[in-house]
Amino acid sequence: MSATILGMPRPIQAFVHSAALRHNLQRMREAAPNSRVWAVVKANAYGHGIERVFEAFRAADGFALLDLEEAKRLRALGWRGPVLLLEGVFEARDLELCSSLELWHVVHCDDQIDMLSRHKTQVPHRIFLKMNSGMNRLGFTPRRLRSAWARLNQLPQVDEISFMTHFSDADGDKGVSDQLMKFLQTTQDLPGERSTSNSAALLRHGQDDSVAADWVRPGIALYGSSPDFPQHDLAHWDLQPTMSLRSQIIGVQDLEVGDTVGYGSSFQAERAMRIGIVACGYADGYPRHCPTGTPILVDGIRTRTLGRVSMDMLAVDLTPCPQAGFGAEVTLWGTSSHGAVLPIDEVAQAASTVGYELMCAVSSRVKFVDDQVG
Ligand SMILES: *Cc1c(COP(=O)(O)O)cnc(C)c1O
Repeated sequence: MSATILGMPRPIQAFVHSAALRHNLQRMREAAPNSRVWAVVKANAYGHGIERVFEAFRAADGFALLDLEEAKRLRALGWRGPVLLLEGVFEARDLELCSSLELWHVVHCDDQIDMLSRHKTQVPHRIFLKMNSGMNRLGFTPRRLRSAWARLNQLPQVDEISFMTHFSDADGDKGVSDQLMKFLQTTQDLPGERSTSNSAALLRHGQDDSVAADWVRPGIALYGSSPDFPQHDLAHWDLQPTMSLRSQIIGVQDLEVGDTVGYGSSFQAERAMRIGIVACGYADGYPRHCPTGTPILVDGIRTRTLGRVSMDMLAVDLTPCPQAGFGAEVTLWGTSSHGAVLPIDEVAQAASTVGYELMCAVSSRVKFVDDQVG
């Protein structure tokens, strides 16, 4: 008889905090009290998992995403309210799903109007007509928006038409005023609801009712990352981390002066020091570009990484936490079990990227855990 012995999994885990998700959604509501809120859950809820955020975001007025498979998952969870496809359909048969799942969809180009005009449906579709106000990704230019609206408006396949645009610089100095003016001028005498704001626009400019408009579309702020870091951090916007990437120390080394750490010997000790080896590497989604000095928490105490990140491990300086040894908790970003916070934005900055990329990139070998309490 042979018994199956299950090995311990690697200690790395990503915790998703439902109370923080709820808190952040509530913050978005307060920032735009007269608007309805699309909870943006594209990219599998910014890497958190649609099923994992769903209960917390039920209090939203709708869900916005761009993958039809993800829209199906929302309906399978029992969500009957609005679902908006932010890029609209990619091919004609997607419209069948829009009809059967009652998905609202963006129309941003003539090809999508052509497909809609040939679509057979009992139920007319709710449309968000997208204007390109300067981002130059998707949408009709101001010059062409009205004719697109006129075309759509006479299609039997089309129900109500709303208007939307997307800001390129809501987080920066350029701001939203030029794009907003173009959008408002172009659509001014057309009937229908308006939607313009992502997280940055909502938090920085949402006091202006024409920015908040009928619908706001926050994404990143819901997931506890500041949309305009480093100008403002998480605490400034009263947001909470929703994802905590935690692991453990699996080895300890005592370095002498001149000893080096990791591939390429990029870190060299200038004094004797104790270091910890953490079970987390770039194959878990931790950025390889994080240099020596990237902030990290050990037992809730802030310290720094040392040397190059390798596939499965990275090294940390244990000088500020001499008590920490094998098995000590390491928080790569988010909240430690002691309640200390390391905003994902700080780690992203060290890697010359943004929190969005880090939360979306946690790899499939990392076990996700629902934290229903914190
Ligand atoms: C992703 C996205 C959003 C949300 O943006 P955040 O910066 O994450 O708040 C809003 N609108 C559109 C069209 C998007 O694609």
